[in-house]
Amino acid sequence: MDIFKVFTFEAAHRLPNVPEGHKCARLHGHSFRVELHLTGPLDPHTGWVMDFADVKAAFKPLYERLDHHYLNDIEGLDNPTSERIAEWIWDHLKPALPMLSQVVVHETCTAGSRYRGPRAD
Ligand SMILES: [Zn+2]
Repeated sequence: MDIFKVFTFEAAHRLPNVPEGHKCARLHGHSFRVELHLTGPLDPHTGWVMDFADVKAAFKPLYERLDHHYLNDIEGLDNPTSERIAEWIWDHLKPALPMLSQVVVHETCTAGSRYRGPRAD
């Protein structure tokens, strides 16, 4: 069973490694949308895989580091593409949420990335 919870946060960033003149080199912001997917067995008694409140609680420390911050200042996010943000969230969240199976980061309504961990590509 796969469950997911969606979060949104606002943040500024710039991409330091894009070609000269690329618009993403300029300081700008996004309303990021993050989907956390968890995969595990359905508990026959509770009828759920995991309490969504526990997912929210696990993500809270990361949310507070991301929301209304300049992402480039965060350790590990000096090049904060949506791909890097997905990896960063995975790396920091997986120890607390072993059932985490996928992190999706929407940078805009039409663009984003999906990360399933270091072995699954
Ligand atoms: Zn951007």
